[in-house]
Amino acid sequence: PAATTQALEPVRGGKQIILQLSEPVPSIYAYSPINMPSTRAAAIEIADPTYNERAYILTSLRNVTLSTLSLLAFCVLIAWLLGGHLISRPVDVLVNHARKLGGGDLSARLALRRTDEIGQLASELNSMAQSLETARDRVDRETRNRVTAVEQLRHADRLGAIGTLASGVAHELGTPLNVVEGHAELIREDAGAGQAAQENALIIIKQAKRMTSIIRQLLDFSRRGEPSRVSTDLVDLCKTSLAMVESFARKNDVVTKLLTAEDGRARAVVTAPEIQQVLTNLLINAVHAMPKGGTLRLCIRRERRTSLGNDRTERDFVIIWVEDTGTGMSDEVRSHLFEPFFTTKEVGDGTGLGLAVAHGIVRDHGGWIEVETQEGKGSSFAVYLPEEQPS
Ligand code: ADP
Ligand code: MG
Repeated sequence: PAATTQALEPVRGGKQIILQLSEPVPSIYAYSPINMPSTRAAAIEIADPTYNERAYILTSLRNVTLSTLSLLAFCVLIAWLLGGHLISRPVDVLVNHARKLGGGDLSARLALRRTDEIGQLASELNSMAQSLETARDRVDRETRNRVTAVEQLRHADRLGAIGTLASGVAHELGTPLNVVEGHAELIREDAGAGQAAQENALIIIKQAKRMTSIIRQLLDFSRRGEPSRVSTDLVDLCKTSLAMVESFARKNDVVTKLLTAEDGRARAVVTAPEIQQVLTNLLINAVHAMPKGGTLRLCIRRERRTSLGNDRTERDFVIIWVEDTGTGMSDEVRSHLFEPFFTTKEVGDGTGLGLAVAHGIVRDHGGWIEVETQEGKGSSFAVYLPEEQPS
């Protein structure tokens, strides 16, 4: 029984009792004695719980709901944290990277150090960027080459026109000049002429000779004599040309240096005196560009290049660089460089024919001249000549 033995004493005496107990479950207990044919006393216990059942159910329902909800919230939090760490952050990185690649920054690379799908995607993106970069570099290079070639062709065209014009004029002037010079000679040799007249005649002769030499150069620019080309060692030719300007350079505090190709081999089929004229023109210009002294470098190298002109085949070229550490030149000067009579030098110092003639000669040998310059830093003239094909 729920009640204590002591509390049940009245029942033993045959009485019916009702008790309110809080243990084990808060209830009202009724005990009623019954007669049993045995020695022990017997009674019936009836219990009626006193707590509110509805409230109890509601409480338990609330508890269950609450714990279910907090469990759910916990799961969502875990999923969110894990998802952020494993998926959305790396995906963000991938998206940013893709955006960067799209913006043209192909040098960017991803280092995710993961072997899962996202890692694979990253390494695929990297190799894609790599091949795009290579392709872009190639396109850039080819575009640059093409632009240079077109520029040079256009330039050559213009020079060609000027050359034709100049040689026409030179031709026309050549004969009258000879006549002038001849008559001046006559006056000089005429014993009857006064001394003053003879001296004037001498001046006329000198100036006429100077004009004749300019005209010869002008004709050199536009018309080449019959080519008498032979296989020539260009390294030797460079040495000779350098030796010719050596003392002039030294007088101007210019140090000269010669750098030859790795194996020292550089042969081309050329008219040697013409190429020598090109080199001395370039060397003298370089010394002129260094009025305060400097370094003059002559370098020879071989390189595979696409030739200019219509065939545009690849072949080996010998390149002779003349580099100075002089004044450099402005874009304006640079764009007129090869035009006959273009000079920035004082009258008497320069005729403006050196580069025009050099251009003509090199062009006739199937080559070209490239110029790089930086104002205040110096210039470099590269002479490209087709290398002699080994037989
Ligand atoms: P010239 O030497 O008679 O003036 P060129 O045709 O040889 O004629 O040269 C034309 C012009 O190009 C020069 O007057 C000079 O302004 C410029 N030039 C040539 N070579 C160089 C160089 N190495 N550095 C700076 N300017 C140069
Ligand atoms: Mg010159």
